[in-house]
Amino acid sequence: MFKKFYDVIVIGGGASGMFTAGCAAAKGADTLLLEKTNQLGKKLSITGKGRCNLTNVGEVNDFIESYGKNGKFLYRAFTNFFNQDLIAFFNRYGVRTKVERGGRIFPVTDNSESIVNALRNYLKENKVTLGLNLQVKEIIVDDNKTDGNNKVIGIKIGESKEIIETDKVVLATGGLSYPKTGSTGDGYRMAKKLGHSIVSLTPALVPLETKEDFVKDLQGLSLKNVSGIAFADGRKICGGFGEMLFTHFGLSGPIILKMSALVVKHLNKNEEVIIAINFKPALDKKKLTDRLFRETKNFGLKSVNNVIKNFLPRKLVPVFLKLANISSDKKFKQITHQEKEKIINLLTNFSLKITKSRPIEEAIITRGGISLKEINPYTMESKKIKGLYFCGEIIDLDGKTGGYNLQLAFSTAYLAAQSVVSS
Ligand SMILES: Cc1cc2nc3c(=O)[nH]c(=O)nc-3n(C[C@H](O)[C@H](O)[C@H](O)COP(=O)(O)OP(=O)(O)OC[C@H]3O[C@@H](n4cnc5c(N)ncnc54)[C@H](O)[C@@H]3O)c2cc1C
Repeated sequence: MFKKFYDVIVIGGGASGMFTAGCAAAKGADTLLLEKTNQLGKKLSITGKGRCNLTNVGEVNDFIESYGKNGKFLYRAFTNFFNQDLIAFFNRYGVRTKVERGGRIFPVTDNSESIVNALRNYLKENKVTLGLNLQVKEIIVDDNKTDGNNKVIGIKIGESKEIIETDKVVLATGGLSYPKTGSTGDGYRMAKKLGHSIVSLTPALVPLETKEDFVKDLQGLSLKNVSGIAFADGRKICGGFGEMLFTHFGLSGPIILKMSALVVKHLNKNEEVIIAINFKPALDKKKLTDRLFRETKNFGLKSVNNVIKNFLPRKLVPVFLKLANISSDKKFKQITHQEKEKIINLLTNFSLKITKSRPIEEAIITRGGISLKEINPYTMESKKIKGLYFCGEIIDLDGKTGGYNLQLAFSTAYLAAQSVVSS
């Protein structure tokens, strides 16, 4: 079915694998792309809630910062191929893009399938040989030593003993999250077998579970313009402003996801993590108290329930009054000073104890991966095995939400392809 030898074999048909295969083939390499599921770009098609937040308008330095202390590794990849190059590429394949809040870039179709289709066309146009439903089990090197002198000689698929020969393999098998999309960690296992170190794999951009089970009553409630601060053993560790969501198990939504990696880190140290939500971050305590008092004048005869509704989404009111220990039909003018204090405190400091994160399978991204110390940032080639290259989520880098993770996948893919062809 396949030839005996290919110039390049790419393992994994996700965002980075498709792009690197297309780029290598466009530069003249006879390229084979192997994908273990029945479809290319499964994860890509669910990105950005099915709309695909492709990249961001930010400058290189904003990007570098978004990946934390390891971000500098990407300078070379970004100077080579960055957000405007990516947009220009998709424009060439008929996808127009638009900019949304926070500089996030989406296809104007609001449909990630346009991105996946463009990449499919790119592969077809450049005559990449494609193998679907084929799981690569092993990368074969010229001997089984791991002394740094080994070089790639081929790969093995499934249970077959046959080796498809090549001297260049790009490993683009992604992370561990959303395993139904095909990313189940195969690449880590293959790289480890060849002597690579894997930096510990933990969920990042992941929803969080709370001790308080009243969150069940709030399931589905999405709040905008709120702020959240996470504390570990009483110290502030991070905070955010924007949108959040209550779920049956706890908290999710952009500000929670952004804080999650740090929260996980502190939970792993057995620290007590509390997230305090401020439902009224635009008002300081005094202004909020004044407003409440004003309501007493205007609505004193109304029930507390009816007045609080003006301050909070309906779904929150019963939970709120229960926590404040105030009967919902009490007249507003009858509430005591202490009860008012309680209300103000709940409005500005609604605290939930975080017990754990959801499992890595439910994370948007995997933190950790192939150690950057073992990858050449100028080429994406392994420093341990000649002819082995990496791109995408498999490497020890992860970014914020906002299009940073896909740009990472595409930029590292481009650099890997360029290196493979020029080496
Ligand atoms: C719900 C969700 C929403 C997201 N939204 C965004 C967003 O809007 N913007 C953004 O920037 N990022 C987003 N991300 C992150 C982004 O999807 C990933 O960073 C990106 O897909 C990583 O690309 P990749 O090619 O490295 O890995 P993947 O896309 O995971 O692709 C890896 C591929 O390798 C294949 N594979 C694995 N093992 C083998 C094997 N042994 N043999 C052959 N094939 C194999 C898999 O089947 C898979 O197709 C989102 C992630 C999730 C889960």
